[in-house]
Amino acid sequence: MDGKESKNNRQEVSMWLLLIEDEVRLADSLKAGLEEEGYLVDVAYNGVEGEALALANAYDALIVDWRLPDRDGKTVIVHLRAAGRQYPILMLTALGDLEHRVAGLDAGADDYLAKPFKFEELLARLRALLRRPPLVVQEQVVRLGSLELDTRRRQAVLDGAPMDLRPKEYALLEDLMRHPDEVLSRTVIAERVWGDPFYVTDNVIDVTISSLRQKLASAQVGGNGRQVLRIETVRGVGYRLTTVSAS
Ligand code: CA
Repeated sequence: MDGKESKNNRQEVSMWLLLIEDEVRLADSLKAGLEEEGYLVDVAYNGVEGEALALANAYDALIVDWRLPDRDGKTVIVHLRAAGRQYPILMLTALGDLEHRVAGLDAGADDYLAKPFKFEELLARLRALLRRPPLVVQEQVVRLGSLELDTRRRQAVLDGAPMDLRPKEYALLEDLMRHPDEVLSRTVIAERVWGDPFYVTDNVIDVTISSLRQKLASAQVGGNGRQVLRIETVRGVGYRLTTVSAS
């Protein structure tokens, strides 16, 4: 990646980062480099101070070294996740510490980078993490045509009327709505709606689809080229929710 590209990716609104790293020279040079890229950067040189800062401030992302003198990076991450903090965390590990990386991801880090690394790679990882939407903050209302889902209450409203859906029908509809015009395979549906692709038979999925289809059809008034939602079967592949002109 060249300097030009990284300049194009500069943040319009500054992202606020916390770097927890005990190697002072490395920490200071990372801070300087990140600030040149337009980030706001706080630095903590030990785990205890880093954890306190991370709990006190609404950072956009954290960069946490594994080996810290007083409280290691993994423990810090575990504490922050246990406290409900959702910001993305990039963990720094020594090259070859495979078990550390796995443990770090298990502890709640989103990604890791092995030392020594190129600064450009750190920037790329950081950008990827900041693009990723936070896990818990999903849009509460999803709309497609005249269908609206209140994802918190798990209620679907079609043409202004609440639909009477069983829990799996609702979950399936929400999954289809989040991917309009995309084909979802039975395996993907089984995994995301039922949580277990091995337990669910194709028949269970087909029955749920067909019931959902009927409820959609009976709730929508067609005619005069009006747009209505349909669940289409893509033979041998899966299902897709799409908008068609009803006659
Ligand atoms: Ca260290």
